[in-house]
Amino acid sequence: MTEKPEISFMRSLCLGEIIEDIVFPFPKMKDEEKATLAQLRDSFATWLKGRDADFRKWDVAGELPPEFIQEMREFGLFSLVIPEAYGGLGFSSTAYSRTLQELVQYDPSVTITAGAHSSIGMRGLLLYGTEAQKQRFFPKLATGEIIAAFCLTEPGAGSDAAAIKTHAEKQGDDWILNGEKIWITNGGIADFFTVFARTDGKQGHVTAFIVTRDMPGVTTSPHEDKMGIRASSTTSVRFDNVKVGKDNILGEVGKGFKVAMRILNSGRTGLGGGCVGMMKKAIGLATKQAKERRQFGRPIADYGLIKQKIGHMVVECYASESVVNMVAGIIDRGSEDYAVEAAISKVFSSEALWRTSDEALQIAGGVGYMREYPYERMMRDSRINRIFEGTNEILRLFIALTAMNDVGHQLKEMAKVLGNVLVDPIKGFGVLSDYAKRRVGYATGYGRTEMTKPHADLKAFTNVFEECTRNLAAAVDRILRKHGKEIVEKQFATRRLADIMIDLFALACVISRVSGAIEEKGQEAAAKEVEILEVFCGQVARRVRGNFGKIDDNDDELIKSLADHACAEERFVWDNL
Ligand SMILES: Cc1cc2nc3c(=O)[nH]c(=O)nc-3n(C[C@H](O)[C@H](O)[C@H](O)COP(=O)(O)OP(=O)(O)OC[C@H]3O[C@@H](n4cnc5c(N)ncnc54)[C@H](O)[C@@H]3O)c2cc1C
Repeated sequence: MTEKPEISFMRSLCLGEIIEDIVFPFPKMKDEEKATLAQLRDSFATWLKGRDADFRKWDVAGELPPEFIQEMREFGLFSLVIPEAYGGLGFSSTAYSRTLQELVQYDPSVTITAGAHSSIGMRGLLLYGTEAQKQRFFPKLATGEIIAAFCLTEPGAGSDAAAIKTHAEKQGDDWILNGEKIWITNGGIADFFTVFARTDGKQGHVTAFIVTRDMPGVTTSPHEDKMGIRASSTTSVRFDNVKVGKDNILGEVGKGFKVAMRILNSGRTGLGGGCVGMMKKAIGLATKQAKERRQFGRPIADYGLIKQKIGHMVVECYASESVVNMVAGIIDRGSEDYAVEAAISKVFSSEALWRTSDEALQIAGGVGYMREYPYERMMRDSRINRIFEGTNEILRLFIALTAMNDVGHQLKEMAKVLGNVLVDPIKGFGVLSDYAKRRVGYATGYGRTEMTKPHADLKAFTNVFEECTRNLAAAVDRILRKHGKEIVEKQFATRRLADIMIDLFALACVISRVSGAIEEKGQEAAAKEVEILEVFCGQVARRVRGNFGKIDDNDDELIKSLADHACAEERFVWDNL
């Protein structure tokens, strides 16, 4: 296996190359971590099982009581990713993601509280902290004596994070921080804030600071009243002339935007693990309910329409887990280029969870709608995952535009080379880039990129993946040629490409996992997983072909025209009275 892949699997795939070593074999958790996790699972059960009434009460109250946060500290929930040398558990991305997967099945608000601390609140310190900063803060962060929060969003800067107005002026060796952040998870309970502020007045010139609650001028608002994850703390955080020493800068002055993006990328497997855990819980509840509830003289689990929902929930959960574990494995191998895959794992798992919790509620019928049962809360708690840590729209743009940027560079190179070819054909062809060679390969039928590592039984699915990959490379190429630089404004086309990429990465992950399952357990024991792959592969193939077909044949302009009309009128105009 490649130790440090130079370029990511999906970015290579968009250039027409399948780098199998990145996704094969399917990543496995280390034995020691497996043992730790088994213990953790038992300890969670001892600690949290049977406390549903408490979680419901805290959801209604919109707050976790301080005594419970103390229990979280004592359990060690704030120490998960902090290196052992500083008193933490030093979990890998895989073990961390799996831990949140287990915890979320008890309560999502508790999981978000622990997750915001580890995934984003103190991750800047983990990724960019100096030794002195780590010595200063990690031991207290590990015990939960101080809890961490990540402060990027502002009233005027949500998705457009570069538009932040919070600013820091240099005064001698110190910086004077002013501004307001909103919707900060853990805002009300944190003592350690990773804060992003403009440091020279220019948009985008941002620096990351460590700010602590004891600094004069730091204040937080009461908790927001939210739709879901209600017991987690979400508040504004204000900074009024807060004096921050230069020792509290994270990374380089002016490079804070990069710090913020790296934190979000690196923490995504936490969110993904949470989504998978909630899906598993939804499947457990829905299957039990479907067997117990009888209508028309039979358990509703006997009916095709219920089976259809449950079957799809299983496929969604398996695929999401495969994607999330793959990304965690890639991060744990030390890869630096995983931002596209991490974004895919967030979009895929959060949307699969939303569909899954919706279907679980539908299976429960009226019971699903009643607060007394867990379904409605599951839906409320699930919804946030499509919004925070980068909305799924923004991540789709990021996924597709990254690929198109890569191909755009190659096309420019190709144009240069083709100029040379006309002047000097031999020299010109000699310097054809790999991309150009592959393009010629597709056109002529040579140089077909193949997947060789999956188990032989999976050949039919591997063929679909290869065919879709050719469609992908052709789609990127086609979209770019059609729209050129205008592509940034062509979001319908960009979304189509992102959806193709999301599906293909998920398919590669599922093929890899099922292949590993056959090799490890044998064909018979892995038969059900092959069925999952068969269903998922069919879904992907249909969606990819559909999206590909719509590049040239679509109703984009009509939809845009309807949206423009509705926005101009600010209402639905065809009242049928
Ligand atoms: C419960 C909760 C907890 C949060 N925790 C934190 C936290 O701990 N730290 C923190 O810094 N932030 C936090 N946030 C903020 C969160 O990250 C933002 O809400 C998110 O980034 C989206 O920003 P916005 O809400 O301003 O939406 P907007 O940016 O206003 O977007 C509104 C809609 O427009 C879409 N949109 C925006 N721009 C474009 C575009 N160019 N093209 C197409 N569509 C676009 C979006 O996808 C979205 O659908 C939290 C939010 C919530 C609700």
